[in-house]
Amino acid sequence: MKGILFVLSGPSGTGKGTICKELLKRGIGLNLSVSATTRECRKDEVPGVTYHYVSTDEFRRMIDNSEMLEYAIFNGNYYGTPKESVIKLLGEGKDVLLEIEPQGALQVKQLMPEAVLMFIIPPSMTELKSRLIGRGRETEEEIAERINAAKWELAQADKYSVHIINDELDKCVEDVTAYIQQKRDERVRIENLMNEEI
Ligand code: 5GP
Repeated sequence: MKGILFVLSGPSGTGKGTICKELLKRGIGLNLSVSATTRECRKDEVPGVTYHYVSTDEFRRMIDNSEMLEYAIFNGNYYGTPKESVIKLLGEGKDVLLEIEPQGALQVKQLMPEAVLMFIIPPSMTELKSRLIGRGRETEEEIAERINAAKWELAQADKYSVHIINDELDKCVEDVTAYIQQKRDERVRIENLMNEEI
């Protein structure tokens, strides 16, 4: 049985990264795909673990070579999912997790409609704005752009398998974990029905 491709996405500032870290800590058998990016490595990040840091030329070469499952330009940098490792893991029956922004998530859905797209949403736009301000990474102008982008992203919400609100982190991680388990159970149930001898 092939593995399941889980995609965790949502507007910038909804806490996707933190949710992902919590999911991995729980040891529930998810293999996080390491993305490639052209952005600089931050102090607390580890090359090859957090991201594969590549030059713009190298990233474009990977696109031209069809090595990317999906990619997007975010904040002036390329981000993308290298295809090979994801396909290999799925083929080995392992579940894979992508933590990506919404343009990329929708590309994955087009290419692999069987992927499970989880959309993390903020409790309110006011809360989203204060989280973006709170993390102190963006200028006022960039925050306004992210809020605008979030409105377009929310308008695409019906293309996702499920919407999960990140109001309180622990509850959100519980909800994501339960949904992953539900999808796994559904897969096993269908597989059993198909293999049932009659
Ligand atoms: P950051 O620079 O803060 O690590 O990530 C910026 C944004 O890029 C986040 O929303 C993150 O989810 C997204 N991202 C990370 N890796 C990928 C990827 O491989 N593809 C796409 N489309 N987005 C990604």
